[in-house]
Amino acid sequence: MSIANILFLLLLAGAVALFARNLGRVVRNIRLGRDEDISDRKAERWGVMARVALGQSKMVVRPVAGIMHILIYVGFIIINIEVLEIIIDGIFGTHRIGSFLGRLYDFLIGSFEILAVGVLLACVVFIARRAVLQLPRFHKPEMKGWPSKDAMIILITEIALMGAFLKMNAADQVLAQRGMEHYTTAGSYPVSSLLQPFFAGMSDGTVLFFERFMWWFHILGILAFLNYLPYSKHFHIILAFPNTWYSKLEPRTQVSNMPRITGEVKSMLDPSVPPPTPAPARTVAGVDMPERFGAKDVFDLSWKSLMDAYSCTECGRCTSECPANLTGKLLSPRKIMMDTRDRLEEVGKVIDAKGKWEDDGNSLHSRISEEELWACTTCNACTQACPVNIDPVNIIMEMRRYKVMEESSTRPSLTGMFNNVENNGAPWAYGPDRRMEWAQE
Ligand code: SF4
Ligand code: SF4
Repeated sequence: MSIANILFLLLLAGAVALFARNLGRVVRNIRLGRDEDISDRKAERWGVMARVALGQSKMVVRPVAGIMHILIYVGFIIINIEVLEIIIDGIFGTHRIGSFLGRLYDFLIGSFEILAVGVLLACVVFIARRAVLQLPRFHKPEMKGWPSKDAMIILITEIALMGAFLKMNAADQVLAQRGMEHYTTAGSYPVSSLLQPFFAGMSDGTVLFFERFMWWFHILGILAFLNYLPYSKHFHIILAFPNTWYSKLEPRTQVSNMPRITGEVKSMLDPSVPPPTPAPARTVAGVDMPERFGAKDVFDLSWKSLMDAYSCTECGRCTSECPANLTGKLLSPRKIMMDTRDRLEEVGKVIDAKGKWEDDGNSLHSRISEEELWACTTCNACTQACPVNIDPVNIIMEMRRYKVMEESSTRPSLTGMFNNVENNGAPWAYGPDRRMEWAQE
């Protein structure tokens, strides 16, 4: 084993270990949420995952972006099959280990190159949509700063990786044609062969250096990108699959009841019904969490809402369909998801630093205002539009519940309705004895 192989092995092991650590941190953060059993209707769940995550069914509702996205997705996944060969070559010092596949290898390499060009073009179009065409949904207030940079970093990295792949292939073939030891003429190169004139007149040593540089750039770029994912919206390429599997299967607009409150009401109306027993104590991150109605902080949300937050692609399709946002209200469902993720990250950092959760004086409500929460009509246009079946409405509803039930804080327009429900058993300002008056007119 040469020094280069040992170095490669060490870098590969380090990158995989770092990714496993970051993945563990994200999983730990998601598990800070409330337990929710989502294991029913498994066959249906596999179907949703196959259709929405694998088949990208909701992406193509907007055909241009949808088809470009599918091109990047398919291209990136399939081209990375070649990464397997690069890893084996890197560890064992072989070169194009897959070339024994003969014509199948030619077909694979040729397809990878054509897909690489597709990915390159799609990335350029996506950059143009953001930077030149300035599509409004990419320039909402929540996209200022890091989120916009993150999107550009992802697109530019993908262009750089695909470019390195094609340049590496071109130099590789020039070396093979010159009969360099170790280099084989296997494979078909419909795109990179067009780059070969670039190497005319270069010495063997220069071409070899160029090929090795691109080889290392390509594989180290992929390993670095792998470790960038957990800090980026691009993490959705992994989480889209579990997130769609755990999708809400009930009708979108169905609001979950609060069993404790239902029990309290039943017991109040019928003295023979015993009051519900309080929920068992819950210890999270070394701290006993009080039972709460609704959500004050990330600990009070379901783990699924927290996974939603990490799965958000920040595409803004939800916000572009949201009637509240379209009519100039402060609410943006995308911002709800971004704020939830940012708060979760903030909580995770406190736990990492102190070994357990210590109240930092902030909560989800420090980031999401009442004005945003009460602007939601619960129409669920956002959940319908989301390409990875994220449910911002659940977070909004839980936070509203906290405001109403724990802080007695609501909108003035709702106070009268709440009083009427409490006093008259209906939202109207008439007692039950006057209910039939309309029929006597
Ligand atoms: S449910 Fe609320 S957040 Fe979602 S689209 Fe409708 S108004 Fe907007
Ligand atoms: S919630 Fe869904 S639709 Fe909205 S920005 Fe995130 S991924 Fe896109």
